[in-house]
Amino acid sequence: MTDADIAALDAADPLADRRALFDLPDGVIYLDGNSLGALPRSVAARLRGVVSDQWGEQLIRGWNDSAWIDLPARVGDRIAPLIGAPPGSTVACDSTSLNMMKALTAALALRPERGVILSDSGNFPTDLYVAQGVAAMLDRGHDLRVVLPDEVSGAIDESIAVLMLTEVDYRTGGRHDMPALTKRAHAAGALSIWDLAHSAGAFPVDVTGGRADFAVGCGYKYLNGGPGAPAFIYVRPDRVNAIAPAHAGWMGHAAPFAFEQDYRPVDGALRMTVGTPPVLGLAALDAALDAWDGVDLRAVAAKAAALGDLFIAEVEARCDAFGLKLASPRDAHARGSQVSFHCPEGYAVMRALIAEGVIGDFREPDIIRFGFAPLYIRYADVADAARILERALRNELWRKPEYAVRAKVT
Ligand SMILES: *Cc1c(COP(=O)(O)O)cnc(C)c1O
Repeated sequence: MTDADIAALDAADPLADRRALFDLPDGVIYLDGNSLGALPRSVAARLRGVVSDQWGEQLIRGWNDSAWIDLPARVGDRIAPLIGAPPGSTVACDSTSLNMMKALTAALALRPERGVILSDSGNFPTDLYVAQGVAAMLDRGHDLRVVLPDEVSGAIDESIAVLMLTEVDYRTGGRHDMPALTKRAHAAGALSIWDLAHSAGAFPVDVTGGRADFAVGCGYKYLNGGPGAPAFIYVRPDRVNAIAPAHAGWMGHAAPFAFEQDYRPVDGALRMTVGTPPVLGLAALDAALDAWDGVDLRAVAAKAAALGDLFIAEVEARCDAFGLKLASPRDAHARGSQVSFHCPEGYAVMRALIAEGVIGDFREPDIIRFGFAPLYIRYADVADAARILERALRNELWRKPEYAVRAKVT
């Protein structure tokens, strides 16, 4: 595409005004917002206020006077529209891994006569680790069955207690059909848990229409809540009060400040919370969610698709000679908002690319991965990133010995 074509795409972008809501460093093209979202400008001011005016001045009165105690429900209600959930069904708390553990223990308890957790090899490893840990803890012989992503549908049968999947494959960006798979799971008498880590904020998710029983996801990816931001958990409203939480804690109690001796869960999704909410993290996530106010999620999905298509076309046109091979679905409807390539020396190539100002990431064994956060990535960024990738490959910038040494976080 010509520079003029690309400028025309940016000029016609209905989300173009959103970029100004983010504090992006100069000289960086940030294609890793699917791993850690960029910093929204609203966050610093909000955190300053919470620290100085609330914590500093109100001290413990802040729990009531600044409604800190309501943050898990309040922030959950702001995430709910992004995943197609009704108010009161979603809470912001803990990490995605822990929320997966809560969802899985709850779901297995609702299917006590069944012994199989079905997942796929495209799932994010933490979800598989959680399932292994839960099976060991329950010690009732639960079997974690892991099949290839395109074999999931055929593997659903009446032995399955829970179908546990990540909607968008973190490596390839390949996207499962949540409504169809959930329908199959229900027809077989199983429950479904969906990890929306790479879905929420990338395209309109519909947990209600898709009939998901549980969903979890991250606050720090497309939702931009900052490193280690609280995660979220959704429970289908007609199921939630049947759950006797294994993670019983006072924040999920019907009357936490009655200090009763026995656990009695509160009605609704708040029973999925456990301990004292992380107020600073929730305040940052709350402020970050302002960037989504008034956003049409269909425009987000359309831009995600177009950015990905443009990147694929530019990289394939420029980098064909260097052994890159598309690892993501070519059809944008079958992808999340990310594109990956198999790339020889992928780790070193990504290090070189980052040194040249294009930040993506590397995933084992040979994947270079690029995420396109539609709120702040421009078409011009994507085209420039492809150009810089070509330069890094052509000039073999990745050959520097230090790029071969793995950092702790890739
Ligand atoms: C990023 C990610 C997680 C991360 O979980 P944490 O508990 O926040 O570390 C979990 N699942 C998926 C699918 C992810 O992509």
